Amino acid sequence: MKPAPLALAAGLLLLSLGAPAGAKPKKPVWPVPNPTLNQPGFQPSSSNRQISGVFGPRLKFGSARYDHHEGIDFYAFFDKGLPRGDHSVFSVLDGVVTDVIAPGNPERTETGNKVVVTHPIPWSALGGPKEWGNVRTGYLHLSRISVQKGQQVKAGDELGKAGETGYTSTVHLHFNVYRAGGRDVNVNPARLFSPKLFKGVVLPVHKKTVQIEFLERDKGAGTALARVYLERNVYGLDGFAWQVDKDSSRVISFEHVTATMRDKRDTGDQGLIPGLRLFPLRYNGGEALERLNAKRIPSSWPVSRYPVPNGKGVRLGYDVLATGIPEDAKKLTFVVFSVFGKKVKASPKRFQVER
Ligand SMILES: [Zn+2]
Repeated sequence: MKPAPLALAAGLLLLSLGAPAGAKPKKPVWPVPNPTLNQPGFQPSSSNRQISGVFGPRLKFGSARYDHHEGIDFYAFFDKGLPRGDHSVFSVLDGVVTDVIAPGNPERTETGNKVVVTHPIPWSALGGPKEWGNVRTGYLHLSRISVQKGQQVKAGDELGKAGETGYTSTVHLHFNVYRAGGRDVNVNPARLFSPKLFKGVVLPVHKKTVQIEFLERDKGAGTALARVYLERNVYGLDGFAWQVDKDSSRVISFEHVTATMRDKRDTGDQGLIPGLRLFPLRYNGGEALERLNAKRIPSSWPVSRYPVPNGKGVRLGYDVLATGIPEDAKKLTFVVFSVFGKKVKASPKRFQVER
């Protein structure tokens, strides 16, 4: 999958929005702050409106259930000055409301109150393939909905209030970004971020934000285990690869799982990618692990063998196990990659434990 060249995308985006010639180009700011109301939006910022859940597999909050999170979550809980459930949710771009899931709709059980906006921006203007169609965005778990299906909205218009309707454990905005496909497919919402605009606030996949530890190679069992830590607010992570000599088939891309393995994606770590198993260590920050009932973690999970340090500042962790490694394999390389094509590669000089 080609990464979206976001630096180039800004100009194209404007063209597609039909900015009048000579008008000062408006940068695509995502998410849109609301200057008129001076209300907190959901932009990741120096306040505590932080990303609380990223795109991809996770060890679900409060359980040992593995699930594949297909959007980005933003805290809407801790901001000062507004009562719970009273944070506005804004359309990130101009568009038309094409779906509203409100009380009475059976889908609401899971998504809660939900609004989908279709934007007049083809993915091809953002570096995506033509068949991805137009960019659409979804806003889930709202406490209130303030728009109707068919309504035109401008970037920054309020769509509703962040809430905790549907399957959720707290007040937050779950933000989805879709592309067309055999069915509607979620892509990593980070594709709409402009990394430049959020420099220092959200962090790209980079050797400074990614820490790789090599834990074990078991030659008899044909396995190698690496652990990855990512700083909080790292966005755009799309997955991992274990390269074994010239064999580069052990790759998991979270967007690929979303697009092609919807039925299997939540069934645990088993069998999604031959030769690779993934164990998300924590979700929702360090506190999630403390609140997790550790006894319910399947004993086969490496979590139990290599306890996760309860360090502050580390928000995400995955153990990534390569299997089926030939005993005589010489060169092992571990790769962390993002939807923007950024990669961090590392090769173990020696494993901590080698059997
Ligand atoms: Zn979510």
